[in-house]
Amino acid sequence: MFDLEKNIRPNIRNLKPYQSARDEFAGLAEVALDANENPFGFGLNRYPDAGMKKLKSKFAAFRGVKADRLIFGNGSDEIIDLLIRTFCEPGNDQILIFPPTFGMYRVCANINNVGIIEKSQTAEFQIDFEQLRPSLDDPSLKLIFICSPNNPTGNTIEKETIVNIAKSFDGIVVLDEAYIDFGGASMIDESIPNLFILQTFSKALGLAGIRLGVGIGASEVIAVLNKVKPPYNINTLTQQRAVEALSKTEETKRQVASIVSERDKLSQKLSSINGIRNIYPSKANFLLVEIENAALTYTSLCEKGIIVRDRSKEIENTLRITVGSPDENARLIAALREEDHVPVGRVGKCVRSTSETQILADVNLDDPSNTFINTGIPFFDHMLEQIARHGSLGLNVISNGDLYIDPHHTIEDTALALGSAFNDALGERKGIERYGFLLPMDDSLAQVGIDFGGRPWLEWEATFRATHVGEMPTEMVSHFFKSFTDTARCNLNIKVEGDNDHHKIESIFKAFARAIKMAVRKDESGILPSTKGKL
Ligand SMILES: *Cc1c(COP(=O)(O)O)cnc(C)c1O
Repeated sequence: MFDLEKNIRPNIRNLKPYQSARDEFAGLAEVALDANENPFGFGLNRYPDAGMKKLKSKFAAFRGVKADRLIFGNGSDEIIDLLIRTFCEPGNDQILIFPPTFGMYRVCANINNVGIIEKSQTAEFQIDFEQLRPSLDDPSLKLIFICSPNNPTGNTIEKETIVNIAKSFDGIVVLDEAYIDFGGASMIDESIPNLFILQTFSKALGLAGIRLGVGIGASEVIAVLNKVKPPYNINTLTQQRAVEALSKTEETKRQVASIVSERDKLSQKLSSINGIRNIYPSKANFLLVEIENAALTYTSLCEKGIIVRDRSKEIENTLRITVGSPDENARLIAALREEDHVPVGRVGKCVRSTSETQILADVNLDDPSNTFINTGIPFFDHMLEQIARHGSLGLNVISNGDLYIDPHHTIEDTALALGSAFNDALGERKGIERYGFLLPMDDSLAQVGIDFGGRPWLEWEATFRATHVGEMPTEMVSHFFKSFTDTARCNLNIKVEGDNDHHKIESIFKAFARAIKMAVRKDESGILPSTKGKL
């Protein structure tokens, strides 16, 4: 039977908690001369609300629990430490964990000189209750930490097992539900007095920066923890931002839904990459991925500016990958694809990074099998796909630009990077046809002549009626080609007639692609197509 009093460390059982005058004062303080604050300050001159009344009532309503069952910490990390300091006598008592799991349980136990019993998980990352049962009678065991969904494996632990453990144990079962909003069912409603739940504002609620964790337990347990907790551990700004977030839970729900759908897409894409052996099913916002050589992949991703977590020490050759934004996930996939793809043919690459945009562009003039385009501007992506398809080129373009301003920098810099990649792929420009042109028909007539002669020039004869097609400004079309000629060092002569702006632009891009295809075609002679001796 769970007996709270017996679990509390003796010195804490007898502890008189810190009392401020404001705790004792029940009325509305009109003149606060009790806490030696500066009466002027900068709007934050008063100590935070130690009772966290607003935050508590908001969170209580959000999760449907009573406010006296809640305690807040400077991240869940502080509550983990608080639990250990309240219930475990240093040098004597122990906690129990199920590795591989969240690292802070161990760290906090070590800091407090508290022992750690480790029980391994089953092959399915579950807890074997029968195997655990004898340890539950150890009188020095005070806290059991269960993480569900578990970090780093991503799976949930069977509810029945957790209930069984709590009912057969005289200490406290801490159930860490940091990832509960991404999948799985919370056990917040279970009325088990020794079940203590941890949640956090750092994951689904999107506020890792404010450092706010929540403990949800029996009110008697909360009362004990409140005696140990520093009185003003949650600052005013954190309380304000958390209350704001709890007024926007519809937006949070949308974000969580989008992360969950990205998780499933990411898992699908990862499964097609060479060297990836297993993707563990996940109920969290990360994927644990087993890969042929995790250390090597980890380092090469780092070199490309992508950081994931190597969990190989716990589960051989695994990486834990957080589900990011669609753009971030696309960059990860592109980087991993590059890894297992040894290019054949004339390849050129450009990585361009400024404060306005980060662009990755590579082109393969001889192998069209690998194309991936994501600039964040759908119509522009569609146009770049024309270049790949009609130019019979492999083209990877990932642009991460300041689209919140407008598409200008992204389109311009993508063109510059693309031109540089072509310049790189063409090398000394020996053995190419050099010229290309085409006159394709649609409802519009586009004519694109190209000369990879080493000098930039753009002749432009095209007007558009619309200001935009999709999100792409039509004035950026000529700007795209001008920028391309600058870095690809080519002449372009472009004319278009017709009615429909979408068709006109698309036919320019198609004609451009065909012209490139002709101009970069290998010429059997292998000689430099110039009498100057240099291009
Ligand atoms: C991220 C995480 C937390 C959150 O810790 P905070 O201190 O609240 O940011 C807690 N538990 C697990 C298992 C986590 O992965």
